[in-house]
Formats: sequence, C-alpha cells, structure tokens
Amino acid sequence: MSRYTGPERRSPSPDRRQPRIVEVRPTWAAIDASALAHNLRRVAAHVGPRCRVLAVVKADGYGHGAIDSARVFVEAGAWGLAVSLIEEGVELRQAGVRAPVLVLGGVHPGSEDVVVHGSLTPVVWAPQHLQLLAAAVRRSGAERLPIHIKIDTGMSRLGVLPPDLSALLDYYETHAASELHIEGVMTHLACADDPDDTSTSRTQLERFGACLAMLGERGIHPSIRHVCNSAGLVRFADAHLDMVRPGIAIYGAASSAAVELAGLRMGMSVHSRLLGIRELPAGARVSYGHRQTLARDTRLGILPVGYGDGYPRNMSGRAEVLIRGHRCPIVGNVTMDLSMVDVTDLPDAREGERVTLMGRQGRQAIDIYELADWAGVIPYEISCGISKRVPRHPQHPR
Ligand SMILES: *Cc1c(COP(=O)(O)O)cnc(C)c1O
Repeated sequence: MSRYTGPERRSPSPDRRQPRIVEVRPTWAAIDASALAHNLRRVAAHVGPRCRVLAVVKADGYGHGAIDSARVFVEAGAWGLAVSLIEEGVELRQAGVRAPVLVLGGVHPGSEDVVVHGSLTPVVWAPQHLQLLAAAVRRSGAERLPIHIKIDTGMSRLGVLPPDLSALLDYYETHAASELHIEGVMTHLACADDPDDTSTSRTQLERFGACLAMLGERGIHPSIRHVCNSAGLVRFADAHLDMVRPGIAIYGAASSAAVELAGLRMGMSVHSRLLGIRELPAGARVSYGHRQTLARDTRLGILPVGYGDGYPRNMSGRAEVLIRGHRCPIVGNVTMDLSMVDVTDLPDAREGERVTLMGRQGRQAIDIYELADWAGVIPYEISCGISKRVPRHPQHPR
C-alpha cells in the first residue's frame, strides 16, 4: 500500500494545560499521495517537457491538505504552486515549502509586506498593486520581486482589461521596474470546461495573443506565459505555452467526465464505520421530516457522517454507500452528524462495518462525479466541502 510521503504528523508540543486531542472517530478521508504524484506526472507527460506545471493547492489543496499535497506535487516535478490567498501562501512557507508560490487572488493594501517577506509571487493587474509591492520591496531591501500580470480576456473576474494594459505597463516602467520583475503573464478561460464551447476560448486566446504582442513591442518578454487550467490543458494543446495551472486534474478529477484527462487516479476517498444497526418494522418513518417510510422490515445502519462533515444533505433520497462491496441506499434525510443506510440485504453486516462514501470497495466504486450529481453540485464542491472535522489520513491507515 502506498505510504503518504508527506511529513510526519507533528505531535502537539507537550503543553500540560492543554489535553491532547486524539482522533478516535471512525470517519476519515484517505489521501493517496501516490495518486497525486501520478496525476502530476500524467499532466506533465501530457504537456511535454518544455511546459512547466504549476500545481494549484488553494482551498487546502481542494480538501486534500495543502501542505502535504504541495510537497508531493513539487517532489513529482511541479515547477511551483498556486494558492488563492496570501495566507495560504504563508502557510506553505511556514511549513518549509521553498518552491515558487503564485498568489492568484492579488494584493490588497496592508498585505504587501507579507508577500515580500514570504517571497510569494503575486499576480497583479492594477497600478495600485505595483505601487504597494514596489514600496514593500524598497522597505525590505529585498531583491527584485517576480510578479505575474493577469489579463482579463473575457472571464470578467480578475485582470487588467486589454485596453488598460498599456497604462499599466507605463506605470510599471516609471515607478516599479527596479523593484519588480515581470516574470509571467497569464489569463484565465471562462468556458474551457464546456466541451460544446470553443469560440469563447478561442476569442480569449486571440485577445491574449494580442496582449503578448503588445508586451513584445515594448521590449517586455515574460518568460512564463500561462493560460490553461485542467480543462484548458486537455482541450487546447496549442495554449499550453510555457506553463499550465492544473487544479482538479492533479487530484484525479475534472469538472465533468467529458473534459477529463485520461488515466488519472482519485486522490481522496471517504470512509466510515457503522455505529450500530437497528431492526425496524415496515412502516417506521426515518429521520428529520419523516421523508421516508420503510416499505419492509429493515435493518438500518447508523452512519456517523452528515452534512457537518461535508456529506451534502441535498443527496437525501438519492445517495448510496458501499458496504462489503455492495451499494446500499441512504434512507431519509442526511442530518448534521448522522445518516441512515439500509443494510437489510446484507444480513452479515455488523456494527463497526466499513462503509465507503466515496471510493472503491472490491469491484464497486462511487466516484466524485456520482456524488456531485446526487448533490446537484460540481465535483470541486465535493472534495473542498469535506469538512475540517474529517481527519485526513494516508491511504489505508487501518
Ligand atoms: C483554481 C484555478 C485554476 C485551477 O483550476 P482547475 O479547474 O481546478 O484546474 C487555474 N487557474 C486559476 C486562475 C484558478 O483560479
């Protein structure tokens, strides 16, 4: 079985006033480090040796644990890491991660010294960002800080609009060129994950190309041009440029099966154990709201997992779990801490029985797409949503 190659779990320092919190609950998310490494290498092979891979580890590594995942990705060949928040970047630095860390979410007043101190690489798109960062570099006496300029080619979220790029560069050249170095230039595709839409992405790529040409005319040649997220790198081979920015792909999934890179492996599975089994007569009504009435005498397994763990309540009446390699339906409403599962057809099922909510048991598997479909959300929301109180363990800890 694969061992998690991440750091040892640091035991809390022996502070006598604070009793140590032990993890005894029988619900956990298993993180398969070898799958994460495999996925990173799979992306790298797909884009080829001249294209770098920036591993996106925002939102706690899409729920997989940012620090441990970051270490695995860098070890597997990622050039650097991307986070959304400065805080997420600082967390990586404090854990000793030394690879480049792009902060996608920008710089706001008051954060610029933290960025410089942490040697984070900010994504910028406004003169104010340049002003703040240049001042922070001057204050710290640090070397020129690499920055990446973001262009809004149609996502209408972050980035400088193409007509404003020239003014941004004017500001850079006059006020920030000795403190900041334009290492990268990037944009983000709005509809890459829609397999039926090509023209939106093509239009965005044309606009990006025009901006690159304009930079070139001004003698600015950023060494890292990057556009593609996971779906983009699958669909637009000519847009890989110098770097790709996969998130969901390196965790083993895609926004939908239609844009999935072949050969990925799921990085996370979610498991629990039955707290007990109740024998209930036909006609008994189950859980809050009594939304379900038992049609037969039923053995009802009590599962210590609920929406407080990120198991969406929306799935009530649709979800299934795996027990002894069989699919068993969730009965009634999912509650905050508990769910009920029909194990009548598994007469051997016992208290303590292993239950797989996402992942594989024998030949059966429940994948992230199925869960997302039951819950009416996108796959990203499933793994990001597995809450903090579900401990992350290396694959197959028990
Ligand atoms: C989150 C994010 C990504 C990664 O997206 P995936 O769809 O998970 O691959 C890439 N680029 C930017 C700017 C992002 O915000």
